[in-house]
Amino acid sequence: MSYRVGIDLGGTKILITLAEEGGKILSSRKFPTRAADGLNNVIRYLITGIREVLFGEGVSLHELDGIGICVAGFFDIRSRTIISSPNLPGWEGFPLEQELKKRLNVPVLVDNDASAAAYGEYLYGAGKGKRNMVNITLGTGIGGGIITEGRIYRGSGGFAGEIGHIIVLPQGPLCGCGRCGCLESLSSGSAIAREGRMLLSAGGGAVLRKIVKQNEELTAGHVFEAAKDGDEEAAGIIEKAAYFLGLALAFVVNILNPEVITMGGGMARTGEMFFAPVRRYLKEAAIPPSGEMVSLVPAALGEDAGVRGMLSLLEQYLV
Ligand SMILES: [Zn+2]
Repeated sequence: MSYRVGIDLGGTKILITLAEEGGKILSSRKFPTRAADGLNNVIRYLITGIREVLFGEGVSLHELDGIGICVAGFFDIRSRTIISSPNLPGWEGFPLEQELKKRLNVPVLVDNDASAAAYGEYLYGAGKGKRNMVNITLGTGIGGGIITEGRIYRGSGGFAGEIGHIIVLPQGPLCGCGRCGCLESLSSGSAIAREGRMLLSAGGGAVLRKIVKQNEELTAGHVFEAAKDGDEEAAGIIEKAAYFLGLALAFVVNILNPEVITMGGGMARTGEMFFAPVRRYLKEAAIPPSGEMVSLVPAALGEDAGVRGMLSLLEQYLV
């Protein structure tokens, strides 16, 4: 029997999955990334994590056919290096594939996490059977991956699908990328939390104020909870975030005419309370034929989407 390892390397956690040839998953474990410890330490944690997962299943390193890793950040498919990653500071220009290959002596394939997640949802999740689809990951940030005719659409450098950095409000709030008014700065979990904090400091949000405990950091979850409990100002924050997301999705729908948009990540778990207004604004702003065709549904694979997609990409790479 031969084995493969699929990894999702994010800014806060590393998910490591061991699978058999053919894709059957044997075990999965999560480790903290501790990105602030720096590149060399994170590589060390990564290798230790891989060894632990293998050891747990009694598999040795030389039984591995390959490792597939998807990373949060701009991965350049021409130079095969990470160009930049807000979540992994100091990784700019790092040849992750080569380095891991050298240290572990197995083939290594790296890809962008949003593309891998879209591919996972396409093959096994909420986009199964839909050859033209877009997957959006809605959490602290906003990521996107595009599938056209059953393949990942990467663009010329591998940077396609960056829906989070479409500017939907010129001169809007400052985004993590350094520009202003990106979708991520208006509709992400961190944007909703920021609006919630601003509401409280302006003296509003009576219900929200009761929900957030003393010394507790205000999150998007609190704002959703307050809106559900009748806080109209909190509901207004969510409505605004849904409006900008619906608008950005309409751009995507007009250009790509996908069959389905799957939406995952922490914020997508809030369900219809968020999906319904996003869907309404999307349908309003998109051209009618594309807007009517597309459905907006929750993603199905949760945090496994990236690893599942990555294992399939690795399978193809190893053929
Ligand atoms: Zn941005």
